[in-house]
Amino acid sequence: MTDNQAMHFLIVGAGFGGLACALELQRKGCTVHVLEKEKQLSESGDVIIIAANGTIVIEKWPAVWNDLNVTASKIPAITIQDSAGKLLVSQPWDEAYNGHINIWTSRARLQKAMYDEAIRQGVKITFGAKVSDHWEEGDSAGVFVNGEKLVADAVIGADGVYSKTRTYITKAPDSPTRSGVAIYRSWFPMDRLLENPLTRDLAKNAKDSSFVWIGEDRHAIVHFNSTLQHVGAFLTHKDTYTVEESWSYPGKVKDMLAFVEGWDPLLRAVFSQIPEEVLIDFKLLWRDPIKKWVSDAQRVVLIGDAAHPHLPTSASGAAQALEDAATLAALIDKAGKANISKALMAFEKIRFERTTATQRMGWETRHKWHQTDWDLVRENPEYLQIPQPDWLYGADPERYAYENYDSVIEHLEKGTPFKNTNIPPGYEYTEWSTGELTELDKQTGDESIYIVK
Ligand SMILES: Cc1cc2nc3c(=O)[nH]c(=O)nc-3n(C[C@H](O)[C@H](O)[C@H](O)COP(=O)(O)OP(=O)(O)OC[C@H]3O[C@@H](n4cnc5c(N)ncnc54)[C@H](O)[C@@H]3O)c2cc1C
Repeated sequence: MTDNQAMHFLIVGAGFGGLACALELQRKGCTVHVLEKEKQLSESGDVIIIAANGTIVIEKWPAVWNDLNVTASKIPAITIQDSAGKLLVSQPWDEAYNGHINIWTSRARLQKAMYDEAIRQGVKITFGAKVSDHWEEGDSAGVFVNGEKLVADAVIGADGVYSKTRTYITKAPDSPTRSGVAIYRSWFPMDRLLENPLTRDLAKNAKDSSFVWIGEDRHAIVHFNSTLQHVGAFLTHKDTYTVEESWSYPGKVKDMLAFVEGWDPLLRAVFSQIPEEVLIDFKLLWRDPIKKWVSDAQRVVLIGDAAHPHLPTSASGAAQALEDAATLAALIDKAGKANISKALMAFEKIRFERTTATQRMGWETRHKWHQTDWDLVRENPEYLQIPQPDWLYGADPERYAYENYDSVIEHLEKGTPFKNTNIPPGYEYTEWSTGELTELDKQTGDESIYIVK
């Protein structure tokens, strides 16, 4: 810590972003109090993908990393097929990138491991603590929880897609657009597949593996984790109901099967084995990139989904929350207590352009898989692969923050030139909205949509 003065932070939300930020700040000598509105740690969720740029952060918490390394799937490839199950391309998915593992794992398990580690490291976590408002005065900031006023040096809003902290900062209400698209999501014991003759062999010989089926306007994914002996099964579909996004809205297997009428019998057999009690129907809402992450008084900041909600097809939402945590903690460490506001402003400058690119990646992959340019696929099936560029997978967010702190601060204070290098090479950020991408999305074969290669 630069000026050796203890710093205290309040974090709103004990999701991935909140717990990661707590662990990183505590590791750098700060004290942290996490406030979570739910009564206990959520056990919801299915599969989460974290590439090397996220696991490089987790490596700093050895107990979490050890558990992850043993239990997560390290798939050799993603098998991408058409709706009938004909192989289109097998995308290699290296076990590690620059020595840092690329994994698919159980969200609930990883979150629990992060929570346990945070408690071991002395982070205070209060459940049933719904933050109702925020305040700032001089060098302090805080929140109101159950009528109590809490004080800290700064507040970090890791309160997810419906963030109250975001409303406080932007002074604008959340205004998502209904996408008209939803995802059936499930995560269940592999034993279930033993009951069906079509899926029995899959379960008996299961290896860590992931399969994608691409059809018109929709795609399906099935993922096997051989260590945890679990299967994740997913299907995007046109949304026929009007409920809001929720990790607990139930789905029906028969509705799911109706969306894949005539598709690969193996996929239908896997879907038919999903225990209905674990099937959710997750409605996708779309939000434009949020341009303001720091409050006017510069003591309250957004991280994770509160700052940059990602589409699932980006495969990057959790990793970007982890990158946020490592970046913010490093900047705060470098700034010291006297310059916390500067650290928050530097954080927005370093992170905004990068996360708009990873958010955009979700739209691009979604476009390739839903409005598929089949002529291009015949010519070059690799077009269907999820991008794994070096600027993304090869990132070390903590090092980037330490290395760029001085030049970002000089840029913010004196207007000296500063260019982020954690974005796609040659990429010049220009504003985009979900409305514009929805328009582009209607056209098949429109290459202008792709900025992430
Ligand atoms: C229950 C749940 C299950 C999920 N399952 C998956 C999954 O299976 N696969 C996947 O890819 N992504 C999943 N996600 C989303 C994923 O965790 C996030 O996209 C990503 O990891 C970024 O994390 P985050 O911490 O920013 O947001 P989140 O993980 O959404 O965490 C936000 C936290 O803030 C809390 N909170 C919100 N408002 C307040 C308030 N006013 N006061 C106090 N606390 C508050 C929420 O209860 C939540 O715990 C899930 C999210 C949730 C909440």
